[in-house]
Amino acid sequence: MDNFYRFKIGQFTCISVSDGGFNYPVESLFKDVPLEKAREYLAERDLPTTHVYTPYTLLFIDTGRHKVLVDTGIGKYGAITKTLFPEVDNTDTTPGIILESLAQAGIVAQEIDGIMITHAHPDHIGGNLDAEGGLQFPNAFYAIWKEEWDFWFSDERTAALQVPPPFIEMARTNLEPLRESVILLDNEEEIVPGITAVATPGHTPGHIAISVASDGEQMMHISDAVIHPIHLELPNVLIRYDVLPEQTLATRRSICDQMAREQTLVFAHHFPPFPNLGHIEKHGEGWRWRPLEA
Ligand SMILES: [Zn+2]
Repeated sequence: MDNFYRFKIGQFTCISVSDGGFNYPVESLFKDVPLEKAREYLAERDLPTTHVYTPYTLLFIDTGRHKVLVDTGIGKYGAITKTLFPEVDNTDTTPGIILESLAQAGIVAQEIDGIMITHAHPDHIGGNLDAEGGLQFPNAFYAIWKEEWDFWFSDERTAALQVPPPFIEMARTNLEPLRESVILLDNEEEIVPGITAVATPGHTPGHIAISVASDGEQMMHISDAVIHPIHLELPNVLIRYDVLPEQTLATRRSICDQMAREQTLVFAHHFPPFPNLGHIEKHGEGWRWRPLEA
């Protein structure tokens, strides 16, 4: 399989670029759902009941004037991640291959001039730094929602929401070196022409989606506003890593309704199958995923 998929949004060249993927334990994607029930949901959809496969797929956008990468992947945490859940078979998953996949697509880190950080979970910021601790994308601006930045550096707020300490440490390690140059966003303006941050809080307090628009065409990168297509069909089910439960569900409802109503092309970071493109359509109590036939 190619690890990249090229497509157009108006004048922009976009590429879905694989950072591998990972098998999560079933219970981590079904918070407060009895395990037997969760397995039933999976079986009904002909999915394996021993784990949930979740791709890590990044979006690269060449606007003609700017080359922007949304998030930086899991980076060095890929290897650690594979050992986190010994009960789940991860022999065949390869989290942390973004640089190889970019190279396959003919892109080197140095030519990227913008990084949009959707939120500061390890699978989205783990590739911010290179092995020596320098910036992996040395010629890029890094932009993140201000609320997200402030949250991860607040002892009080992370403690109040019971964020596991390793998550805080990984966020701070990968954000701190950006402190002098980072762009902190607090409104939904274009970052570069055609690329706009959209506030979608809940999964984390300053989570953003990314709107990409050119020449009358539009696509929405929803990042982790929804984690897996099954959460479209089960609109009240959270995952273990959603930081603000009620806000996660409210954001899911508003962005999914909007995407369905406007029939917007959606890029979803963790939605199988690669290249993570498709449409969200209304279905029963919630919605469902209609992958683009690539
Ligand atoms: Zn994620």
